[in-house]
Amino acid sequence: MYAGRIVESGSAEEVLSRPRHPYTRGLIESVPSLHEPGQPLPQIPGATPQLVNLPTGCAFRPRCPRATAACATEPPRSGDSHFALCHHPLTEGIA
Ligand code: SF4
Repeated sequence: MYAGRIVESGSAEEVLSRPRHPYTRGLIESVPSLHEPGQPLPQIPGATPQLVNLPTGCAFRPRCPRATAACATEPPRSGDSHFALCHHPLTEGIA
C-alpha cells in the first residue's frame, strides 16, 4: 500500500522476487543486508505525501525514479493475479 491505496498485490513469492511497482522494489531494497554489515541503508528519497494533498495521478510520482509525464494521470492496473498500479511497471526480478 502507498498513500492509502493498494499499489501491488500478488503471492508473497511473486511480489518479493519480481516486484512490479517501483515502491515495492524500493521497500525490498531497503532491507538491511546480512552479508554486508555496516553499510548505509538504501532509502527511498522524499517523504510520503499528505493524504489531504496528494499529487495528481500516481501518488508515488514525486519519489519515483521511473516517473514520466504520463504518471500525472491515473496509473493503469497491469497484471491479473499479480498486479501493480503503474504506468511503467518493472519487468526485471530482484537479483
Ligand atoms: S505510475 Fe509512474 S510514478 Fe507511479 S510508480 Fe509507476 S512509474 Fe512511478
